[in-house]
Amino acid sequence: MLPMSFEQLQTAFALSSRLIESKTFHDLNVALITILNEIDTINDVSSYEILGNRAEAGSDVEPLIRKFPLSLDENFTDEYHSVVKYVYKEGTSGVGKHVIGNQAFISIYVNKDEPPEKLVLIQGEVSDYHYEIVKGLASIYEHQINLFDVKERDLLTKLHNRQTFVTTLEQVLNFYRGMAPSGKGSFMAILDIDHFKQVNDKFGHMQGDEVLIHFANLMRKSFRHADFLFRYGGEEFVVIINQTDKTAALALLDSFRLSVKQFSFPSGHITVSIGVTEVNPYTPIPTMIEIADEALYLAKHNGRDRIEVLNRSTKSVVDNDIEFF
Ligand code: GH3
Ligand code: MG
Ligand code: MG
Repeated sequence: MLPMSFEQLQTAFALSSRLIESKTFHDLNVALITILNEIDTINDVSSYEILGNRAEAGSDVEPLIRKFPLSLDENFTDEYHSVVKYVYKEGTSGVGKHVIGNQAFISIYVNKDEPPEKLVLIQGEVSDYHYEIVKGLASIYEHQINLFDVKERDLLTKLHNRQTFVTTLEQVLNFYRGMAPSGKGSFMAILDIDHFKQVNDKFGHMQGDEVLIHFANLMRKSFRHADFLFRYGGEEFVVIINQTDKTAALALLDSFRLSVKQFSFPSGHITVSIGVTEVNPYTPIPTMIEIADEALYLAKHNGRDRIEVLNRSTKSVVDNDIEFF
């Protein structure tokens, strides 16, 4: 540890409290990335979650890497994907420095506790003083992550849980409120595995759990990093597809539906039914969930392994309760 001046020590404490004040994993990431971006010599910071199987490292099993979206309108590309894979394979824990290609990186790697592993990738070089700051912030970040994982994630699939879904949807609504319509919006889909009870009945609850884990990982593979994934409960999942139009959202969902149908689960083949509604910033969340649920009911009713869409206006017609405004 380098000797620090009184002023430097004060700065370090002020930065630490900005991290500690975070109420959610999302806030924590935003706080850390914002602080790091304030350091002049840092060019870029991004955050990832990684699901891999280190026991099989060296084999062909690719880790599932998802970049953490800072805002809904960010660029959807991930230019550091190969760097993340390199750092993952190196298996460094904690804070480390790397030179990859002709670029310098600092990684904050959290892989001690429950999966998914977390990685914050910093592009740039820093002074010894700032490196100490990064190390201090990293230890707070690691500690906070453990707390948020317990609170915000589902234990089995490690996707975000139902409570996190509601707070995330509120953030999505806030993003769109007061914004001029741009032709792009978000879509909420409930994904419900068909006849899942039969999987449990035939193969047992443990195999059923395995199917749920594979299903969640197929979601991680199929949807873009800026789409939000949740386990809603039981064999029901939710995805919020962001900044897109209806055609593209339905194309994404249909390719997911097909990938489920084609995947060999430990118990054989399964299908999924999907109910979709467009996220409307002025519709109360419970109503939106109700509409998506109703669309899901239609998908089940119309034969399963399919997608149905209902929006507030179409739902009114279905309910025979026409809205005039
Ligand atoms: P449908 O096509 O109409 O959706 O039929 P389904 O059998 O999928 O639906 P139903 O709601 O009848 O059954 C859901 C089953 O999911 C019942 C429950 O035992 C099982 N389930 C819920 N949570 C879990 C879990 O965490 N693990 C396992 N293995 N099974 C679960
Ligand atoms: Mg169900
Ligand atoms: Mg079901």
